[in-house]
Amino acid sequence: MGLTRDFFIYLSQNKALNSGAKRWGLKMGAQSVVAGTNIKEMVESVKALNAHGISATIDNLGEFVFQKEEALEAKEQILAVIKAIHENNLDAHISLKPTQLGLDIEYTFCVDNLREIVALAHEYNIFINFDMEDYGHLKPSFDIIDELSVDYDNIGTVIQAYFYESEENIKRYKDYRLRIVKGAYKEPENLAYQDKREIDQNYIRLIEYHLLNGKFTSIATHDHQVINHVKAFAKKHQIPKDKYEFQMLYGFRKDLQLELAKEGFNFCTYVPFGKDWYGYFMRRLAERPQNLNLVFKQVFNK
Ligand code: FAD
Repeated sequence: MGLTRDFFIYLSQNKALNSGAKRWGLKMGAQSVVAGTNIKEMVESVKALNAHGISATIDNLGEFVFQKEEALEAKEQILAVIKAIHENNLDAHISLKPTQLGLDIEYTFCVDNLREIVALAHEYNIFINFDMEDYGHLKPSFDIIDELSVDYDNIGTVIQAYFYESEENIKRYKDYRLRIVKGAYKEPENLAYQDKREIDQNYIRLIEYHLLNGKFTSIATHDHQVINHVKAFAKKHQIPKDKYEFQMLYGFRKDLQLELAKEGFNFCTYVPFGKDWYGYFMRRLAERPQNLNLVFKQVFNK
């Protein structure tokens, strides 16, 4: 399991495969978990979710960008997504990754790009979630959030439960709308819990903290045990349903997504789309090698 995870994380970071994949179109089963390669296809996917009472957080795929032109292109694409949400009256908001907007190129360049995005979204009353990436990008991402929060209130972020410092961070960002996750990247022992049980325990602790704190909480997991725990916890502590939502990734546990929405819980699907699908798809395989079933089904069901 450890080896398989490391292998897919290694593949997710392979630059040649990443750039090759942009030319291939959606392949290897990625079409089951990526909602198209362009805005038109993505809008249709979000409309279909909205018809089931499910909202969407839209991710224009791309990360670890090292060229200014590429970061500017990503910014234009995200601005176009914001306009598409507004024009199509979608029940949706944006998820983005600071490294796609130039965090590895130049801090101020990245802040300027993000400011433009947050400002347009603010105009249309659209929320922007800053996804959290690997540890090296944690502090500068929080710094950008602090900087933009001086002028805008439509920003939230992610707390990753595998980090020892997640408790400190959730307290620091207690006034924000937060998505709480277990954590998707490979992090060393001196920074992050490695043991699944310890991650799960900390995950529950953080969710309970933010739910009791009263700010909006997005519980982003496919783990039904966590979901059942949260349902019981919210009931016991009379936490209103409009104070939290469950989130899952597009294409995963579709039955459970629909079931939770039907039960009257707020449900939001993370909708990735775009040409830059390869790294995202490999990380999903790293998390859960059973996802390889998706690949086999697509390859053999032609
Ligand atoms: P796991 O710990 O992987 O699985 C727990 C159990 O759940 C499994 O044993 C199984 O019983 C069940 N299960 C899990 N998946 C399935 C499935 N597909 N089908 C059936 N049963 C299943 N990570 C970040 O680092 N930064 C982010 O910004 C970020 N954003 C995210 C946004 C969303 C909406 C989601 C859902 C995840 C996000 N992640 C992010 C990834 C997250 O950190 C985890 O790596 C990922 O969600 C896997 O953990 P899990 O909690 O879903 O369950």
